[in-house]
Formats: sequence, C-alpha cells, structure tokens
Amino acid sequence: MSDSTVPQESNPPAPSAWGVALESVRCPHCDWRYFAPPDKADIRCPHCFQADLTPLGEAAAQLPYRLPPEQWLPFAVDAATLNLSVETFAGGIPYAPRDLNGDALRARVQPLYLPLWLVDGNVTAEWSAEVGFNYQVVSHRERYADGGGWRTEEIHKDQVRWESRVGRLERHYDNVVAPALEDHPALERALGTYPLTNVRPYAANALSDALVRLPDRAPSAAWPDATPNFQAAAAEECRQAAQSDHIQKFRWSPKYTQTNWTLLLLPVYASYYLDDESAPQPVLINGLTGKITGARRASMQRAQRAALITAIVAVVLFALGLLLGILGIAAPPLLVFGILLAIVAFGGGAVGALLPIVRASRFNRKQEVEGR
Ligand SMILES: [Zn+2]
Repeated sequence: MSDSTVPQESNPPAPSAWGVALESVRCPHCDWRYFAPPDKADIRCPHCFQADLTPLGEAAAQLPYRLPPEQWLPFAVDAATLNLSVETFAGGIPYAPRDLNGDALRARVQPLYLPLWLVDGNVTAEWSAEVGFNYQVVSHRERYADGGGWRTEEIHKDQVRWESRVGRLERHYDNVVAPALEDHPALERALGTYPLTNVRPYAANALSDALVRLPDRAPSAAWPDATPNFQAAAAEECRQAAQSDHIQKFRWSPKYTQTNWTLLLLPVYASYYLDDESAPQPVLINGLTGKITGARRASMQRAQRAALITAIVAVVLFALGLLLGILGIAAPPLLVFGILLAIVAFGGGAVGALLPIVRASRFNRKQEVEGR
C-alpha cells in the first residue's frame, strides 16, 4: 500500500450535514453508538434493550467517521413477510415465555441502519493470471440397439483451456465494500447477506424515525478488508478483457490513489421480548429479506408450573385411590379400583410432571447448540 492509499480519517463535521437533525448517543450497557433523531435520543438501546441511550458528549468528536452516507438501502420487507418472520420466530417453542409472541415483537419494532464502508479509488497495477476458455470435446461411441443394429452416438464433454496473460491496468473503482463494524461478520452470519441491487443515493428522508449505528472501525482498520474486494473487481475486469470464461491465479501489484471513504446504510428492524427474569432478549430482522435472529428459549418457569399442576392432580388422584382402597376393605370392588387409581396416578404423575421440564430443557439445549 503506497502512502497515498492511507485511508482518510475525515475531520468530522456536525451530524447536521446529514440533512436532518441528529444527536450523537451511546448505550452505557453495550456501547453501541448511534446518530438518533432528537425525539429518539433517550430511548431504550435498540441493540441490547438493557439501558436508555445517553448523549455521547465530547467523545462524539473522536468518532471514526461522521460524514453523511453516500448510499442507503431502503427497508423493503413487506408486512406479510415481516408477520411470517415474527410468527415463525415466536412459534414452535414449548412453554414459550408469555411475552414472546408476534404482537409484542411487532409493537416494539425500531428501525435501525447498520453502516458498511464504500471505498472509491484509482488503481494502477501490473497483473498476471491464467484465463480459461470453455470448449467441448466431441467423441463417438458405437452402440447396438435391439432391432436398430449398430448406431453411432456423439458424446460432448466440457473442458477448459487455460492460457497465461499479463497486463497493466489503470482503473477507477467505485463502491468497493468493507466492514465498518467490528461485529459485522457476526451480524452478517445472523442476518444473512444484503443484496445490493436496490442501493439508492442517500437522502435525508432515508432516516425518518430510524437510528443509525455509527462505525466503530476506522477506514485504516477496514482497509485490509477492502483490498481483496478491489482485487476481485480487477480480476473480473481482466477476465472480461480477455473474453475468457474463467480466471485463476490472479496476481497484481496495485498502487492505490485518491481513495475516498463513504458509508452505505443497511436496514434492520430491532425488537425484543422479555424472558423469565423480565430481561429483554433482543431480536433483529433483516430489513430487506425479513430474516430474523435472536435467542429462542422455552420458559423454564412455565414448564415447572405445568409440572407442578400435573403433580398436584396426580397427588389428589393418588390420595383418592388410597381412600377408595381403605373404603374397599368393606366393599372389595372398590378396593381393586382404588389400588388401580393409585398406581395409575403415581406412574402417570411422575412421568407427566417430568415431561414439561424435559421438553423445555431439551429445546433450550438444542437452541444453544445451534446458536454456537
Ligand atoms: Zn445497548
């Protein structure tokens, strides 16, 4: 990387450059930092839902980047997809916490944008690669068919012919992406990728009542993630220039100049439900695809309550069985019935009381394993 490629650490202007009033805020619990509309500057943090947002104060000047974004991806999940996502998330959980339901998740939805770096830059490079051209080998096979005698069949086999190429490129690349958040890989795993087909130039009305999470990775930290994407773009161009079908072993010695860093905003809905301890469990939804992510857990309290009710019913029936048994000393048919009732109540009660606990803990264990 030449000196001229050192990413610019911009001197941050006030967030009013975004074309809309915004406050710099942070969450004291999880330390996510946001630009928030003034009427949302002290809401519950839409990441952890554990604390109210507080002003960033002096630290706002130290943010890695505060320029307005260049592009954004509008929210595009339709109501039906969103409903299906939250209902599927909330459904199918044995003894789900009472607060985990589609209505609560929908009612608490907070729109939010996650940042992604977009890098523009000029590149000059010597390059070498192997380019591959598809071709078909035709061979013939003789085959004997009943009644038809010998017939010749043509067999087509796909092959690739590789040729070496070297060249020099001088190109300008726009909007090469790089993560702007330390936890971007984890978020991408959880939320799925964002198709970038509907990217639009940023406009102030993009935000309306949404918060914007601020980058926590400076361009200098994100640069090593940008260069492979520059290389991939260059390799694809070289493939096209060679009019080949494939390219491999692409090597180059790039020199970057005039790199310019801007942001792309990715839409997310944040919501939460309360678990057994009334602790908020955050849920995130991809604002393009509706993919939903969060901890799905059975309520052990509800499972224990179900177990207790079953146990009480079993004890009552068992006692009744014993009582009938005692009365049965005088009337033998009652004795048999009483003993049977006591046995069934004892066995059924033991199994029935264990079942909710086993189901709930087995479900939770499976979710934890899948979440790893
Ligand atoms: Zn938080």
